[in-house]
Amino acid sequence: MSSDRQFVYVFGSARTDGAASMKNLLGGKGANLAEMCRLGITVPSGFTITTEACTEFTRRGREHVLGLIEAEVMKGVAFIEQEMGKQFGNAADPLLLSVRSGARASMPGMMDTILNLGLNDQAVQGLALKAGNPRFAWDSYRRFIQMYGDVVMGLKPASKEDLDPFEVIIDAVKANKGVHLDTDLDTEDLKELVARFKALIRARIGRDFPTDPWEQLWGAVVAVFESWNNDRARVYRELNDIPESWGTAVNVQAMVFGNLGNTSATGVAFTRDAGTGEDLFNGEFLVNAQGEDVVAGIRTPQQVSLVGSRRWAELAQVAEDERRAKYPSLEELMPDIYRQLLHAETTLENHFKDMQDLEFTIQEGKLWMLQTRNGKRTGAAMVRIAMEMLAQGMIDEKTALLRVSPDRLNDLLHPIFDAAALKAARVIARGLPASPGAATGQIVFFADEADDWARQGKAVILVRQETSPEDLRGMSVAKGILTARGGMTSHAAVVARGMGKCCVSGAGVVQVDYKARTMTVQGEVFEEGDWISLDGSTGEVYAGAVATRDAELSGDFGKLMALTDRHRRLEIRANADTPQDARVARHFGATGIGLARTEHMFFEGDRINPMREMILADDEAGRRRALAKLLPIQRADFEGLLREMSGLPVTIRLLDPPLHEFLPHDEAGQRAMAAQMQVSVSRIRMRVDDLHEFNPMLGHRGCRLGITYPEITEMQARAIIEAALDARAKGAEVKVEIMVPLVGTVREFNAQAAVIRRTAEQVFTERGERVPYLLGTMIETPRAALIADSIGKQAEFFSFGTNDLTQMTMGFSRDDAAKFLPAYLKAGMYEHDPFRSIDQKGVGLLVEMAVNKGKSVRPDIELGVCGEHGGDPASVAFFHRVGLHYVSCSPYRVPIARLAAAQAAIEG
Ligand code: PEP
Ligand code: MG
Repeated sequence: MSSDRQFVYVFGSARTDGAASMKNLLGGKGANLAEMCRLGITVPSGFTITTEACTEFTRRGREHVLGLIEAEVMKGVAFIEQEMGKQFGNAADPLLLSVRSGARASMPGMMDTILNLGLNDQAVQGLALKAGNPRFAWDSYRRFIQMYGDVVMGLKPASKEDLDPFEVIIDAVKANKGVHLDTDLDTEDLKELVARFKALIRARIGRDFPTDPWEQLWGAVVAVFESWNNDRARVYRELNDIPESWGTAVNVQAMVFGNLGNTSATGVAFTRDAGTGEDLFNGEFLVNAQGEDVVAGIRTPQQVSLVGSRRWAELAQVAEDERRAKYPSLEELMPDIYRQLLHAETTLENHFKDMQDLEFTIQEGKLWMLQTRNGKRTGAAMVRIAMEMLAQGMIDEKTALLRVSPDRLNDLLHPIFDAAALKAARVIARGLPASPGAATGQIVFFADEADDWARQGKAVILVRQETSPEDLRGMSVAKGILTARGGMTSHAAVVARGMGKCCVSGAGVVQVDYKARTMTVQGEVFEEGDWISLDGSTGEVYAGAVATRDAELSGDFGKLMALTDRHRRLEIRANADTPQDARVARHFGATGIGLARTEHMFFEGDRINPMREMILADDEAGRRRALAKLLPIQRADFEGLLREMSGLPVTIRLLDPPLHEFLPHDEAGQRAMAAQMQVSVSRIRMRVDDLHEFNPMLGHRGCRLGITYPEITEMQARAIIEAALDARAKGAEVKVEIMVPLVGTVREFNAQAAVIRRTAEQVFTERGERVPYLLGTMIETPRAALIADSIGKQAEFFSFGTNDLTQMTMGFSRDDAAKFLPAYLKAGMYEHDPFRSIDQKGVGLLVEMAVNKGKSVRPDIELGVCGEHGGDPASVAFFHRVGLHYVSCSPYRVPIARLAAAQAAIEG
């Protein structure tokens, strides 16, 4: 079978087909390996099988894809043979290969990797002779069988409490010999392991371990394709919005060995600190080890730089003498290699103009770079790196703004421990500060149980010996993660930072017993369900729950926010109902209040009583009596809000929810209300029954309340106008906007507008002074959007209520959609939850149409949005494009919306 398409791209010293720009085709890893070769950096030669081959595999299966790529793969292997001067399958001096996945977006640890491919009973002898190191050769062979048996042949632990079957054999051999460490096993022991592994595979799988290197290679390539669809990869894609259609590339590369003795090593490094963003080259390595040993967190890794090593020692409470003797930095141990590594990291960061995450191996004194990619980082690091690279002149303002994902700002707004509570708390252990933040929760030991507990609304801390990609779901729902083993680049640390989740890793004093479901720290036993707290910035672990408080916003954050204001066109308002909320919103940079939901004010303290009195009243006179009690309360609330937001616009909405929301529905509540109101319980029950609606969201609510009971609108309009005058008298600069909810016809708006204007005029006459105000409407019923030109002739502003507009346009109940939406999203009926991110193709069209209709009749009409979508970055970009003037969101999302608005302006 032949095809015009090229499926295999080689990279090496003689030739390199790919480049960094080809990520979609070659995956991130393959494209960057090619780019490193182009930059003259030493990389083991290899080739990349394209993501298109993976797509063909998913679509048409193994035989078809092997037919497509076979000839090219064989040429690729010949290329590596030429470059490395060794032959694949040669028993005397075998070329060994690594086979790794590499998708467009990095998915660390999600898919499978096979190392040392090409070994068999003959080749292992050749390798032993050639390396002059039989122990190394047999250790490589047993690792290969172990990985291949697991990944390609599917030999896994039988259940979650069971151990890895290969590890069981290793433990048995060690026990037999009376040793503890893998390194205590000699060549004969490793030979025994190989024999027992092969027997295990035969017994459990019913097939022999394949000895033909080509059969091994095809098996591994197919396994990588298949791993694109394994459970953990699917979960990762779901969490990170990566489409299934992308597929993964496969990278086949000559092996280099970090486990050839004490002049060999392997490690990972970051050009800047991934946790804090500090411009400091840092990383970890292990002497005489393979790459997986660093990430697996089984041995304690050493630091690359001397500065890093000293800092690590301080945290780990290791004295300087001990550090120098037992854990020297690479800078001290192999100064020459360190200099080369420093050169490579500088070259790569300057080239990619972003923080790089590097993997390297040192084989007998020679440095090989295995990977470079833009490093994952915490939200704090994202901000600091962007702002420092801007200051260093590496990137411009627009690039700096685009470097920070708006949602990750959440990390910086996360709570930290309350200082007083922290002082009183008891430290039980110290680990590495793997991912910053403060977390308090109940201990769970298994990821699936973390998921169950979180669903029950519990705060959990996932405690593990170490984590693996299978734990992803549990990690994503936990408040924090604690591991007993592993360094700053262990799986737990890397994944937690990516998620912006607090993590303490490598807390060595913590002993985890999965069977007993306990964690023991220096004799003290903590059980599943016990409370602990983690400080991901110091690595400290506390007994019990420690109180938290709001984060302080750092200097770089402030600079970034100032930058957003220079580039954005959209104004950012906040949805806030109280002066406290308004203060938070201003602190975060809100330029107004886009929605004050007046009903929220009625729920506080005993304010509910006059409200209930009004609902219970039999006639207008009774209602007016109750409303007279509400008037001063509302006026004071509005005055507080207007004074807090002096100089900025404040949009106050008239009463919106159905009245039954203010009445108790349970027996006890009704009795209490009856006693309070001095009426019979049956009267209350009757009124509740009276107000019952089958579809309250489509019932007697919004302006329909004001139309049927104009005295409510009258009271609210009076409260707003009087508050505006009072606030101004106390020195505030007042910009008030009165908003009518749920309008569907022009007459509805006009009727409400008439009441408001008449009331305002009355107040002006009574007070002998005027205050300007805007009078507008929400656009939140589809009909309002359809006739927005007629409404726009009357209303001075539109504020899109995209929550209701989504509900009514899609026919999805806001209250009931959770029952079917998850299944719907899973089945691909919609790409995302339309209540979270605006449905641009449907609901969005209504918004766009109403904007145009509104402008056509009133060119200076003010246009905003106050549904939840106002804080969603993708929706903000949409609202920018259709020409709104502002978005309004919850106070804590204001910084996110500011950044999203700047990015939208930059991207146009
Ligand atoms: C809306 O419908 O989008 C809105 C902001 O109003 P509420 O959520 O209060 O119905
Ligand atoms: Mg609404």
